[in-house]
Amino acid sequence: MNSHYQTKWTNWVGNQSFTPREIITANNEAEVQHWVSYAAQHQLGVRTAGTGHSFTPVVETDGLLLNTEPMRGITKIDAAKRHVSALPKTTIGDFAEPLWQQGLALANQGDIDTQAIAGAIATATHGSGRRFTNFSATLVGARLIDGMGNLVVVSDEQNSEVLPALQTSLGLLGMLTELTIRVAPAYNLHARYETLPFAAVLDHLDEYINQYRHLSFFWLPTDASAKLYCLDHGGADDCVVKLYNEVPADTQLPNLPANERVDRSYRIYPMHYDPNFHEVEYFLPIEHTRDVLHEMRKLMLRWLPLSVYPLEIRTVGADQAWLSPNYQRDNLVVSISGEPGVDYWDYLRACDSLFAEFKGRPHWGKLHFMTADRLDRLFPRYNDFVAMRRRFDPQGTFLNAHTRKLFA
Ligand SMILES: Cc1cc2nc3c(=O)[nH]c(=O)nc-3n(C[C@H](O)[C@H](O)[C@H](O)COP(=O)(O)OP(=O)(O)OC[C@H]3O[C@@H](n4cnc5c(N)ncnc54)[C@H](O)[C@@H]3O)c2cc1C
Repeated sequence: MNSHYQTKWTNWVGNQSFTPREIITANNEAEVQHWVSYAAQHQLGVRTAGTGHSFTPVVETDGLLLNTEPMRGITKIDAAKRHVSALPKTTIGDFAEPLWQQGLALANQGDIDTQAIAGAIATATHGSGRRFTNFSATLVGARLIDGMGNLVVVSDEQNSEVLPALQTSLGLLGMLTELTIRVAPAYNLHARYETLPFAAVLDHLDEYINQYRHLSFFWLPTDASAKLYCLDHGGADDCVVKLYNEVPADTQLPNLPANERVDRSYRIYPMHYDPNFHEVEYFLPIEHTRDVLHEMRKLMLRWLPLSVYPLEIRTVGADQAWLSPNYQRDNLVVSISGEPGVDYWDYLRACDSLFAEFKGRPHWGKLHFMTADRLDRLFPRYNDFVAMRRRFDPQGTFLNAHTRKLFA
């Protein structure tokens, strides 16, 4: 039974909201197929959301919004191949225990584990670590409903030419009804947390990037910055640093110092955020790391108090997904935030100009200033993606105002 209702949809942080013509619950693939076909026949747009953690208007529609909440859960674990299949609304956190029971784990994770796997893959959500890719690159197969209402199966054996377009596709090729991802053997993480002056982090940067599985840090422009991201330590010009290395799944380390922890990987990754910020994130070639850090520090100090939120720094390894910001490039990832309700757009534009000098590519789920022309210059396979989008959705049933400007 489908429920239909008209109500306002709002994302997690509250900076994007819209009222679709109708919100319709789709319980399974057949119902998704029915409603996409219906929308295409009636020239209506149709979209679906993950868990609404994107800051960009990627979910918005004035047509039908499919509520796929019932489509959650793992459908298959192939421990020998290290492949796991799941329904689109399965959250990152939902994978943890069932994979661990089979001696498996997600190879990497970001700062939270509440996103839906379909949403995380659609926007190339990532963690940190130069030797690791984002979630999109782990997609090895999928079932989806295209813009004409056809079921399409993508895997190594079927429609494999579609995979690099589908891996990061913002829901523009179709509604994903099942996803298969590659996972890793289960592992513990040995985490070390340091609060160090900016200059000290720069002194050790190459070691941190190359010798740790995971490096991330928050640079704090003021004494007030740490608490905005729920961090316990650090004053002006400090960095709150996280360094993780992999240790075997059964490792116990007694007598660890207070700033170290060993635990299952999925317990170490997530941190807490309050919904008190809007985020911008760009990916810059890793060889420019030092220049980017120096320039960002100068820029943020110039723009205080608008730039009071911490600067988050991570790394991500290259992949082959056409719209991935890491397409054939290892990146330094730079994230900045602003306070909802404050006019900080001039500051964000100043950051965007700096990122543009380094050929920065955007995170699809975070605020950015892209145009179709810029995307064409930044993503070598941009035109191939646009052609694939037209093949899968010739009527533009999945486009909305935001994505039409970028990909129509
Ligand atoms: C507090 C916070 C922390 C974050 N931390 C990180 C981080 O560490 N690393 C990082 O990279 N990003 C991070 N993000 C960004 C976030 O991971 C991405 O925006 C991600 O897309 C959100 O997933 P979601 O499930 O909420 O998807 P949504 O934002 O709801 O949707 C994203 C896209 O997925 C599409 N989609 C959803 N389901 C389907 C489907 N079944 N078929 C086709 N398309 C679909 C939607 O239409 C939309 O285009 C963070 C965001 C917040 C708010």
